Amino acid sequence: MQRLTSEERRAITGLSPEELERASGYYSLGRRNHLEPEIAERLADRLMLRDRQRDDRRACIECVRLAPGGACLAAREGKLPGASRQYHPVRVDLRRCDSFRGIAE
Ligand code: SF4
Repeated sequence: MQRLTSEERRAITGLSPEELERASGYYSLGRRNHLEPEIAERLADRLMLRDRQRDDRRACIECVRLAPGGACLAAREGKLPGASRQYHPVRVDLRRCDSFRGIAE
């Protein structure tokens, strides 16, 4: 996962207390999913930028259908058109997926 550019970083400065809490949650989500601290930090930055930009994409790491081993359970059940049943998505890439179900939903 790439670092934010300086322009992107400026877009997430001045976080409110609520945003700081959310950023911390994103970092924890990354760490619970065994991302190295630096990668988890980049994930949190990327997701905060997404939120600030009102981007509607999500990362698989935020989806309840991502199995602990990294497989997509929707694909395994044949509910992800065009994907093999062994599909292991890149967990941190942002995407629009009709089968996404958020962890907090
Ligand atoms: S259902 Fe979609 S968002 Fe969820 S893990 Fe599978 S590919 Fe990712």
